[in-house]
Amino acid sequence: QHRLCSALALVTGAGSGIGRAVSVRLAGEGATVAACDLDGAAAQETVRLLGQPGSKEGPPRGNHAAFQADVSEASAARRLLEQVQACFSRPPSVVVSCAGITRDEFLLHMSEDDWDKVIAVNLKGTFLVTQAAGQALVSSGCRGSIINISSIVGKVGNMGQTNYAASKAGVIGLTQTAAQELGRHGIRCNAVLPGFIATPMTQKVPQKVMDKITGMIPMGHWGDPEDVADVVAFLASEDSGYITGASVEVTGGLFM
Ligand code: NAD
Repeated sequence: QHRLCSALALVTGAGSGIGRAVSVRLAGEGATVAACDLDGAAAQETVRLLGQPGSKEGPPRGNHAAFQADVSEASAARRLLEQVQACFSRPPSVVVSCAGITRDEFLLHMSEDDWDKVIAVNLKGTFLVTQAAGQALVSSGCRGSIINISSIVGKVGNMGQTNYAASKAGVIGLTQTAAQELGRHGIRCNAVLPGFIATPMTQKVPQKVMDKITGMIPMGHWGDPEDVADVVAFLASEDSGYITGASVEVTGGLFM
């Protein structure tokens, strides 16, 4: 079944983990993927995994392409949307913000820099991409589906992650408000709240902590990036055509 065969999907953070799995899944559904990452080589590698060579120089429609951008920079986020539109002659109808970082420290010891960096990438970056994509879609009269990767931590907090939890809670409010403002333009905005997913981001978690978390998960195991990608594919497609402003948890039942 190819649910996204006419879609152009922009995925940020596409060079690793969830963003890479989302890129693979959306391409598998027939979408053309614009894979963006801060690490341009990693984005290129994702495009290679999708089966077609691509570059930002502009392959014809139907090919995938890689883009390098730091989504926390306003000018870079704007340029990214311009480059994608120039490359494919249309704005992306599916936009998935997966770019994210952690800088863990307990509240009493967290530096201003660790706070600022996490908010800049996870919250401001998601705002900048959502705004630029919304502007591109509205001005061209296109419908679209914007999917922002938040986290269950944005709802319940997590020790050592005041910055990260605040950024992910912010993504939920941003996404709900964007859904309210853009619904009349035929643009849906939804947040996905993964629980604990095995990716390079969570590889740094000490084994003892991992085991403790596993014991708390009703399904008894961590999620795979593909578990999140499945939900993103649903939210990207018309199968979810009347869902907007939702926060969809993909947690194996953790913190229900
Ligand atoms: P990851 O570290 O494997 O991938 C994140 C990607 O984002 C990397 O390729 C990185 O280069 C890119 N990136 C970082 N800063 C960027 C920037 N400024 N501009 C563009 N790209 C940038 O992490 P992941 O686990 O795949 O996480 C993906 C998203 O899912 C993140 O937003 C993360 O917060 C969220 N999430 C992850 C989990 C989990 O358990 N892994 C749980 C909940 C939410």
